[in-house]
Amino acid sequence: MSLFQDTFTTTIPGVRVRFGAGVRHKVAEEMEAMGLSRALILTTPQQADTGAEFAALLGVKSVGVYAGAAMHTPVAISEEATAKALELGADCILAVGGGSTTGLGKAIALRTDLPQIVVPTTYAGSEATGILGQTEGGRKTTITTPKVQPEVILYDAELVRTLPVAMTVTSAINAMAHAAEGLYAQNRSPISTLMAIEGLRAFRDALPRVLDNPSDLHARGETLYGAWLCGTVLGTVGMAIHHKLCHTLGGSFDLPHAETHSVILPHAIAYNEKAAAQALAPVAEIFGEASPGQALHDFALRMKAPLALRDLGLKETDLDRATEIATQNAYWNPRPVEAGALRQLLQRAWAGDAPQA
Ligand code: NAD
Repeated sequence: MSLFQDTFTTTIPGVRVRFGAGVRHKVAEEMEAMGLSRALILTTPQQADTGAEFAALLGVKSVGVYAGAAMHTPVAISEEATAKALELGADCILAVGGGSTTGLGKAIALRTDLPQIVVPTTYAGSEATGILGQTEGGRKTTITTPKVQPEVILYDAELVRTLPVAMTVTSAINAMAHAAEGLYAQNRSPISTLMAIEGLRAFRDALPRVLDNPSDLHARGETLYGAWLCGTVLGTVGMAIHHKLCHTLGGSFDLPHAETHSVILPHAIAYNEKAAAQALAPVAEIFGEASPGQALHDFALRMKAPLALRDLGLKETDLDRATEIATQNAYWNPRPVEAGALRQLLQRAWAGDAPQA
């Protein structure tokens, strides 16, 4: 039975979550509740208009808009935005956008301890984690600290309606990857598993309806609900080979974030499906197939997601180096990470072949 509802407000440890179409209009109320009165609004250059709408909504509670957020949180931009927050006397950050904008808000919080309110407009899930990935000199590093965990999240389905269909699909599968890997995480709990299962179910049910009608607010709301659940799983438990591969491909080969997650997911889950058969059983159940990897591949195919790394710009000659980087530092995975098997996985993902257990 679905646990979904269109509108709710909830508080989970340390994070206040308000959910509902139009809930962005509650930003000022949320600031007042925390005794805050001077927000610096963050967006990407592409979402500067949305930033201006929030500035108008906040009136004197806005000290300005910084519309310079960029993918993978470049340190130079974080430093410039931090200087702007301090210069304007901001007492909080209001990040409106996807993972890139949320990342910039976290980077400012890391440097200033300013509280963060996030209004997500993709399904990436960064708003629900205390994880910050940043880049400097072509290197991507990740830190995990409660200092960067946003205090308030406002999930407003009206804002995801503008997400283009292709990005809707890859961003959704990016979110589903947090849940799928969360199912076999070493430090999973009944609560993270419950959230992962419900998150996957929400995307299975609602994503096809969003593709039929991208303005369907109820369906958009259900996908955003899925994003919150999956993002919370990412923030709660450890990830494994899937996230390691995507980190490698994004960080060292500059592949696009959500698209890369989308291509790799069925292959990474197939890689682990024998070693984590019991933990991954819900995936096959939810998607109605015998094999979790094949189930995710078929769902991606139905959603018209990208299936091949070569279509994202990776060269076949890069596959050996990608394997080498992804096996450099030891990390836990249900099935031991073995270079030969990983190289085969990447070959199939590069060509767009079906996954193999
Ligand atoms: P993004 O934030 O880079 O957004 C991609 C583009 O889509 C941008 O131009 C953005 O302005 C635009 N966009 C976003 N929402 C829109 C909307 N509703 N309508 C129209 N355009 C919209 O992409 P993303 O996939 O959300 O985030 C990727 C970044 O987030 C990566 O750097 C990744 O590493 C990071 N991330 C971090 C975590 C974490 O926990 N630290 C989790 C997930 C992702």
